Amino acid sequence: MKEDFYDILGVSKGASAAEIKKAYRKKAIEFHPDKNPGDTKAEEMFKKAAEAYEVLSDPDKKAKYDQFGHAAFEGGAGFGGGGMNMDDIFSQFGDIFGSAFGGGFSGFGGFGGGQRRAKGSNLRIRVKLTLEEVANGVEKKVKVRRKVQAEGVTYKTCATCNGTGQVTKIANTILGRMQTATTCTTCGGAGQSIDKRPSGADAQGLEVAEETVSIKIPPGVEDGMQLKVSGKGNEAPGNGMPGDLLVAIETAEHDTLKREGDNLHYDLYISFSEAVLGSSKEIDAVGGKVRIKLEPGIQSGKILRLRGKGISSLNGYGSGDLLVHVNVWTPKELNKEQKEFFERMQSDENFTPKPEKSDKSFFEKVKDMFS
Ligand SMILES: [Zn+2]
Repeated sequence: MKEDFYDILGVSKGASAAEIKKAYRKKAIEFHPDKNPGDTKAEEMFKKAAEAYEVLSDPDKKAKYDQFGHAAFEGGAGFGGGGMNMDDIFSQFGDIFGSAFGGGFSGFGGFGGGQRRAKGSNLRIRVKLTLEEVANGVEKKVKVRRKVQAEGVTYKTCATCNGTGQVTKIANTILGRMQTATTCTTCGGAGQSIDKRPSGADAQGLEVAEETVSIKIPPGVEDGMQLKVSGKGNEAPGNGMPGDLLVAIETAEHDTLKREGDNLHYDLYISFSEAVLGSSKEIDAVGGKVRIKLEPGIQSGKILRLRGKGISSLNGYGSGDLLVHVNVWTPKELNKEQKEFFERMQSDENFTPKPEKSDKSFFEKVKDMFS
C-alpha cells in the first residue's frame, strides 16, 4: 500500500502551492544525502518526498491524484512504482533546496551527443585553515568516505534502454493513452547495467570506501571559497565519470594579525621611553619572526610597511605587506619624581609638537594605504 502523498509532505489536502513547496523544501533538506551520508532510510524519505512533490506541484497531476489516488499513475506512466532516481530529483528540484547546500548534484555530463554518460555525485567537505596556512599555502590530507566501484564488479550495456539511459513508455490509463520519456529505472540512466555484483556492493555495484585525499591549497585563499578536487567525489557505475570533491574553505581568526586582502595589519604597542629613545622589536609574522627597528623619536600612529611579509597572492603574483601600526602607550600613573619631570618639560621646546610634512595625518595615511 503506497503512502499518501499529503502525509509524506505533512500537509493537509487543502494546502496551497506555496505551502506544499515549503513543506517539500523542509523535507528535502532534512533528508538530503549530504546531511545523511550512507543513511538508506533518509535516502528513501528523500526520494518519497520528491515523488510526492512531483505530483502535488503539478496542478494537472495533483487533480488526477486527488480524484483517483495512486491508481491514476499505475500502469507504466509516471513512476510505475520505480520511484524517482537521485539525478532526476536534483535536476528537477535541486533549485528548491539546493541553496542550502550550495548547489545540487552534477547529473549527467552530456558527452558525445546522444549518448549520455552518468556522473557520480559530488561530495562536500569543510577545511579549516589558520592564517599561517592561508599565507603560505598548505597540503591537507583528509579522510573521505566515497562510493567506488566494488572489487570484481562488471557491467554490460543495459538491455532495457540499449545504452541510451532513457525509456519511452506508452500506457493506457483510465485517463487515456500517455507517453512519457523517463530515465531508465533498470540502469538509473547510466546506460549500463550490472553484470556481476560482488557481495557488499549496492544495486549500482558501488561500495563505500574510506580514502585519504590530499588537497593542495594554494596560498591566498579566502573564507567561503570553494576548491574542487576533480574526480574525488562518488564514482558512477559502468563507464560513468566520478563526481568531484568540493572543499569549502574556512579561515580562523588570528590573535594579533588582521587580514585585509593580501595585506596584514599588526598593532604594536611601545612605551613612552621606547618612543623617545628608539627600540628594536620582534613581531610574529606569518612566515616566522621579524625584527623591526624603531628610530628614536618615532611618532604614535606611524605605520611601518614590511614589504612582502603579508599573504602570497592567490593569482601567484607577489605577496602583500605587513603593516605595523605604532601605538605609543602613555603612562596613566606617575610617581612624584616622574610627575615633577614632566611638569618641568611642559614649557620645554623639545616637548612641543612640531609635526613635519612627513608626519602625515591619519587621513592621509589611510588614503595612501588604498592607493
Ligand atoms: Zn537502462
